[in-house]
Amino acid sequence: MRSGNSGLSRRELLTIGTGAAGTTLFGSARLYATGDGKDPRVAQVLARTIGIDMHNHVYPAGTEPHPQRGPAPRQEEQQQASGLSLPGELRRSGLAAVCASFVLDFARNEKPGDARDNLLNWLTAVDEQLKEGHLHRALNLKELQAAHDHGRPAIVQTVEGSHFIEGRLDRVEEVYKRGLRHLQLLHDRDDLVSPLGDTNTGTPHLGGLTAFGADVVKECNRLGILVDLAHASHETVLAALKVATQPLIVSHTCLDSRTGGNPRMAEMMKPRLISKEHAKVVAGAGGIVGVWTKLAGSLQDFVESIKAMVDAVGIDHVGIGTDTDLLSSREGQGTNMAYPGLSGGFFSAVVAEMLHQGFTADDIVKVGGGNYCRVFGKVTAGRA
Ligand SMILES: [Zn+2]
Repeated sequence: MRSGNSGLSRRELLTIGTGAAGTTLFGSARLYATGDGKDPRVAQVLARTIGIDMHNHVYPAGTEPHPQRGPAPRQEEQQQASGLSLPGELRRSGLAAVCASFVLDFARNEKPGDARDNLLNWLTAVDEQLKEGHLHRALNLKELQAAHDHGRPAIVQTVEGSHFIEGRLDRVEEVYKRGLRHLQLLHDRDDLVSPLGDTNTGTPHLGGLTAFGADVVKECNRLGILVDLAHASHETVLAALKVATQPLIVSHTCLDSRTGGNPRMAEMMKPRLISKEHAKVVAGAGGIVGVWTKLAGSLQDFVESIKAMVDAVGIDHVGIGTDTDLLSSREGQGTNMAYPGLSGGFFSAVVAEMLHQGFTADDIVKVGGGNYCRVFGKVTAGRA
């Protein structure tokens, strides 16, 4: 979520991406050219695709992280004023599910125990939301399929940075029992007690994955939790693949050869981009790389980034990981913060643009969510 060395938050970066004339960087006219729902093939592809955003910072009302205190009440008045709701926005986007990622080092976590408390508080807050029955938690492939088939908006719960573990392996099972099925080991800061591995934005000082980090990977594999190594250094990923018995993913990044429509953003994000070699080792172990909207100055750029990743690792190993939130408190921009104003919804517009750029329906089914489903299904197979 954070920009690494720049020290800027996602929202700050989005602000930077706003043009001087007051129009958003992403608001160019070509965004709408193919996202207007006029291509009849779009509906057919959407009907076949379990659309999934592998990395999303959407938070059910009342569960947004707060820099000081962990989860904080969302400004529900604003939300109601703009008529937004997470299930509604999911439907509008054309996605079946998002991997809802709670950023754990967003809060200060000043002492051991803080990160765990923050995560448990978030899980409890989400539980309360789920009880209302408008949103569902997907624990396995069957539930992702149901989200799509029955139009039941779903989240896969995940966390960005596993600072809650603090050297206690039993805490992985603790959150598994609370519904977490996708775990991103690293983010910006080290675990206060027992770091798991080097990130791609900090100075390497752990020799890649630590011995305890390796234990966490193995524990995730044992339990049936998908391991996400976004933000990890190349050495960390290589070491994790040595001990992993299941495929793993890098949920949100882009090839370092892509600069998109925003060279300034590309420069800031450089440490977080990955080489072809890095992407290939993830794919070679059966995993997936999620392509960011963050660097793409337009929908067209975004699909070109997907294409570049597919060229690098093959159609079976690419997904979508926007690193945005679908839910915006700003009226009229609720479908997606990355490309506000898409008339047909974010995912519908992506599908339209992919068709426009020559992807086949089968390709889109895979990249749009089928690949994530394959890996998620494999990792969670046989578990409740
Ligand atoms: Zn991130």
